[in-house]
Parts: sequence; structure tokens; C-alpha cells
Amino acid sequence: MLQNAPHRPAGRHFLQIPGPTNVPDPVLRAIDNPTIDHRGPDFGRLGLRLLDNLRQVFRTAGPVVIYPASGTGAWEAALVNTLSPGDTVLMCRTGWFATLWKDMAERLGLQPIFLDTDWRRGADVPALAAALAADTGHRIKAVCVVHNETSTGCTSRIDEVRAAMDAAKHPALLMVDTISSLASIDYRHDEWGVDVTVAGSQKGLMLPPGLSFNAVSQKALQAAETARLPRSYWDWRPMLAANGTGFFPYTPATNLLYGLDAALTLLLEEGLENVFARHSRHAEATRRAVRAWGLEIQCADPRHYSSSLTAVRLPDGHSSNALRAVILEKFNMSLGNGLGPLNDRVFRIGHLGDFSDLMLVGTLGGVEMGLALAGVPHRAGGVQAALNYLAGV
Ligand SMILES: *Cc1c(COP(=O)(O)O)cnc(C)c1O
Repeated sequence: MLQNAPHRPAGRHFLQIPGPTNVPDPVLRAIDNPTIDHRGPDFGRLGLRLLDNLRQVFRTAGPVVIYPASGTGAWEAALVNTLSPGDTVLMCRTGWFATLWKDMAERLGLQPIFLDTDWRRGADVPALAAALAADTGHRIKAVCVVHNETSTGCTSRIDEVRAAMDAAKHPALLMVDTISSLASIDYRHDEWGVDVTVAGSQKGLMLPPGLSFNAVSQKALQAAETARLPRSYWDWRPMLAANGTGFFPYTPATNLLYGLDAALTLLLEEGLENVFARHSRHAEATRRAVRAWGLEIQCADPRHYSSSLTAVRLPDGHSSNALRAVILEKFNMSLGNGLGPLNDRVFRIGHLGDFSDLMLVGTLGGVEMGLALAGVPHRAGGVQAALNYLAGV
């Protein structure tokens, strides 16, 4: 409910930020069921089914841990389960989320090496390879990369990161944040040799906020045996012990797990390949609209274009926050703001999760009208360019 609106605007709110995303009706219906005893037999069956289906989405045969927490909690879990005070970690400054993860690593007593980018592309793999090659003493204990940098709309090539680590024969763990890519962009935990994959519920998984995940490799489990950072709530070991029979060591977010069960069913029924193709098609249609408007896409390297969101730069002297405010007021649509140094410079169109051609057309229509109302210099025809692409004409 909009608290400051004199009355409820007719029609649905367009939640086109890059997470939280629109929650599909079958997921909402599933959440709206009575909470059950989380130590009873029905719960165990639900837990086992969930944990099994989750592995398919992460593309892993190994365990996936579920926390009642936002994605930030799963970042912390990845670090505290595997590392010790003073450990060096190699991180890639792809944007705002990578910066927040680095800040957390510092607060936990780790020593990050932070490889810069201009926030217009994914992780700099040659720089990463050079840092690994220089580390002959293997001081670096983990390489941490954000797969899809939600602040910029740039997707890093995890396969190339893995290849660089292999080429350097470096034993560091590989940790990847997939909070805004899992179930939207192709991702392979096992095939890419990832040790900890971090994910959250409120983006590609189409759930409300409140769950987050760690997919864990055997190598990461071994590291957990000797890691010395303090951990309690986030400790994988009691989780995995209870998960063996579908239960949890403390009260799980039962109703969100009902939703997760329904969301996984939707994703697996559609087929992950089809889900990825749908996202990449909507991303391409969005980029065609942006180019037709004569505006610039924040991601400058087409190999790193994100299928989850598109960040759009405004011409100098124009405020993306003013544009977003007009669009919210006139068309009841929320768009993502610019984060950190990109505040007021870009706006972000989320096109991930439960999203269709007509929802995209409505979204782009709201942006095109908003550009006109906010006085942002642009050409008409962005929506038409997207229509032509979507219709295949
Ligand atoms: C949303 C997001 C986060 C933060 O997750 P929270 O659920 O807000 O804690 C971290 N990393 C990326 C890439 C994100 O998109």
C-alpha cells in the first residue's frame, strides 16, 4: 500500500527495480498457508524436496545451505565458514555490491586486495590472472567475484575467472555472488569449480526478501574444518547435519520455504534454459529501446551485458532520481536508483524474475513517457524498437 497516496492507484504497481522482483501468484498462494511444526514429519518431506530441487538451480550435486536472512547474511556465511583472521582475499571492484562485500571482509578482519574497474564492465580477468601469478607464496586464500553486478548491469565471466585460477595453478577458493543472476543468467556451480555460491531469494528466484543461500563445494567444506573466523549462526556444520533429514538447526522461515518450493517448481517446469533465454531476450529488447532513445548503456562491453537488468546513463546535467520520481508518481512504477558514485547518474531497469513481453512493453512505455515528462533529451521510438524485436519483425 502506498502510504502517501490519497487513494490506491488503480492497477498493479510495476516493481521494475532489479530486486526485489515481482512475486508470481502461485508463490504468493503457497506462502499463504498455515505455518506447520518445523520438527514434524510433513516438514521433513518439504525440506528434502526443496534442498534437492535447489541443487538443480545451482547446478551442483553438493549441498546448498538455506538461511533465514537477506543476501548480506550469505556473504558473511561464505567468508566466516572458510577463512581465518588476517587471510588475504582477492576481490574485484565491479561496482557497489562488490564494494559492500569488500567492506564486510575488512570488518571481519580479512585483508582484501581490491582489483579496480571503471564500473562499466565485469571483473578484469587479466588483472586477476596477474595478481594470482604474482602470489607465488599462495597468500591469497579466496577469490571473490560478483557474477552479476546489480549496480552497473555488468556480468562477469566466471568461466574465465576459473580458467585464470587453473592456469595459475592457484589453490585459492572461488566464491561467487549470484544474488541477482541465479535463475536468470546461466550459472554452473560444479562445472565452473566454484567453492561457495552466494544467492538470495528476492531476485531471480521470484520470492519476497528473507532467504539466502550458500552452495558449498567439498573443498570449501574442508576449509571449514580449519577456518578460525568466529561463527555460530552461520555455521554450515549444524545446518548440514540437520538438512540430511530435511530439517534445520533453528526455526526456518517456514512460509518462505513454501514459496521457495512453488518457485522452484515454476522454474524447473519452464526449464532453466528457457528461463535464461527469456531473460536474455528481454535484456536485448531493453537495450534496443535505450539505443533508440539515444541514451547510453552503463555496461560498455557487450560480452558483459546483463540479462537481469540494464543500467541507463542520463546526459550530463540531468537527474536520474528526478526521472524516477516522475515515473513513480505518474505511472506507479519503481525503477532502480544509481548506487554509490552512480547515484543520480543512472537509473536501472530490472527485467528479471516473473516477467513477460507485455510487462516489458509496459515498463519501457513508462520510461519513454517519463523521459518526455522529465525533460530528458531523447528520441522517440524506443518502445517501437523493442516491439519490433519482440515481435521478430
Ligand atoms: C541485492 C544484492 C545484494 C544484497 O542482498 P541483500 O538481500 O540486500 O542483503 C548483494 N549482491 C548483489 C549482487 C545483489 O544484487
